[in-house]
Amino acid sequence: MDNNEWVKAIAESELKDGVPAVVEVEEKKVLLVRSEGKIYACGNECSHYHAPLSDGLIAGHVVTCPWHNARFDIRDGQLVSPPGLNGVPSYETKVEGAHVWIRQSGKGTIPMPEGEDGRTMLIVGAGAAGNSAAETLRREGFAGRIVMVTGEAYGPYDRTMLSKDLLSGEAPTKWLPLRGQKFYDRLNIELMTEKQVTAVDPASRTVTFADGSTMSADRILIATGGRPRTLPVSGADKAGCHTLRSRKDAEAILAELEAAKTAVIVGASFIALEVACSLRTREIQVHIVAPEEIPLAKVFGEQIGGRIKKTHEENGVRFHLGQTVKEFAGSEKVSEVVLADGSRLEADLVIIGVGVNPAVEFLEGSGLTEDGAVPVNARLETTAEGIFAAGDIAVFPDGRSGEPRRVEHWVEAGRQGMHAARCMLGSKDPYREVPFFWSKQYGSSLRYIGHAPNFDEVVFRGSLTDKFFLAGFYVDGKLAAVASVGRARELIRLGQLLEAGKSVSPDQLEDPEFDILTF
Ligand SMILES: Cc1cc2nc3c(=O)[nH]c(=O)nc-3n(C[C@H](O)[C@H](O)[C@H](O)COP(=O)(O)OP(=O)(O)OC[C@H]3O[C@@H](n4cnc5c(N)ncnc54)[C@H](O)[C@@H]3O)c2cc1C
Repeated sequence: MDNNEWVKAIAESELKDGVPAVVEVEEKKVLLVRSEGKIYACGNECSHYHAPLSDGLIAGHVVTCPWHNARFDIRDGQLVSPPGLNGVPSYETKVEGAHVWIRQSGKGTIPMPEGEDGRTMLIVGAGAAGNSAAETLRREGFAGRIVMVTGEAYGPYDRTMLSKDLLSGEAPTKWLPLRGQKFYDRLNIELMTEKQVTAVDPASRTVTFADGSTMSADRILIATGGRPRTLPVSGADKAGCHTLRSRKDAEAILAELEAAKTAVIVGASFIALEVACSLRTREIQVHIVAPEEIPLAKVFGEQIGGRIKKTHEENGVRFHLGQTVKEFAGSEKVSEVVLADGSRLEADLVIIGVGVNPAVEFLEGSGLTEDGAVPVNARLETTAEGIFAAGDIAVFPDGRSGEPRRVEHWVEAGRQGMHAARCMLGSKDPYREVPFFWSKQYGSSLRYIGHAPNFDEVVFRGSLTDKFFLAGFYVDGKLAAVASVGRARELIRLGQLLEAGKSVSPDQLEDPEFDILTF
């Protein structure tokens, strides 16, 4: 196939209409789909974490990955939406001698656009949103100057891995970068590290850096993510007390893990719980201190929150719930955590996981912020023309209700970065994605689609104990969000319904006979 030759893939009779087939051709897995009389073929491995796309869901010409909902166009392998970065390989197909034959036609990579463009696009922040925007600009054919700056010492990396496989020791740091420097060189994306932005002047579209230098651009995207909150508690600044947002934070924690026997985690957020899980993999004794009675009950309700707590307890985590921290004690380094009730927990290190604030302090006085975040319109443009914002800092109108919404999810940030890039190039399309996030703890991925900061009913399909369920979060009888472990296809389908502004009733969701996939 590398020689651009046709290869026999499958007997034509085996390929049923609308039923995807996977064939292995020269050690590559290829997804074949017959739809409306045509046969399409593309790579079957998601470009994000290599999940088999055949376990996902195909709707029209789009296949959605079962793990983290990256989407690809089966006709040409193009990336439709993150968290994938590249597309997947694409293949021409033909039917000859009762067989389907395929020939590779594309690799799914982003070409460097030809031509000239005098414009400069400046991207502030090299995280999920910033990187996705830079790549999208090139994918959309923009041939002008792209500059992406970050205050960190590293270019774009997989932040979600920090609390999971990196801390557990299952992933080496070399797996973190989203791309190598060669990629940015090939696409002529100027990546500037350790370049902290200290101010933005919206009128002249100019940013000022910490070293006093300035830069103006035709379009600016601000995607600076979040800063972890800390606690206004005595000793929180002692050595050994950590927060976790950046690769540098993770490396500081890693450096202490080798010698650590006991860790105290403050907060029962997603990051806190993932860190607890990673530290248990290393057999470190873990205490979690948090004011709530049930972890994540606000997000998932008490049943799922209770199940999450139980799983942690089964894995040896000790919870101190309904508790707050009075003091981080120790001479130079933290050695004990004193709780409000006077009890004391030994701690070789402390990780504070109590949420993040949007990283917008450098925008003070620019007029771009409101209530500590950056409001944008449906095109993700701020109140200043030509300045866009995406990711954790952006408050945007929900694609269906129009209500202001801000979420802190990796996939959402990537999708917003992609959308913002298109709008920087002139698109007038509104952003309409339904948010998706996941968390992985003890080998099990909990996935969530939708937005339900409040809900009045949680309806289940399947078994929470068997870790194979869907949970629908309802507001006034209308589905607002769905969480799932294991039931990826139904979750994706329900996400599609949410996107279309549709709902399945609580009775339908609960009824095992009701076919969500064909609804
Ligand atoms: C440990 C961890 C695990 C997570 N796991 C998950 C998960 O499993 N699933 C999920 O959905 N979400 C997860 N998240 C959340 C997800 O990572 C964020 O929602 C996402 O990274 C937001 O993307 P962003 O582009 O808005 O910001 P970020 O990815 O935070 O990127 C911000 C960028 O801006 C730069 N920056 C900030 N201020 C400045 C400045 N003044 N000047 C220059 N550069 C600046 C930063 O250095 C960085 O490059 C996790 C987050 C963390 C910290």
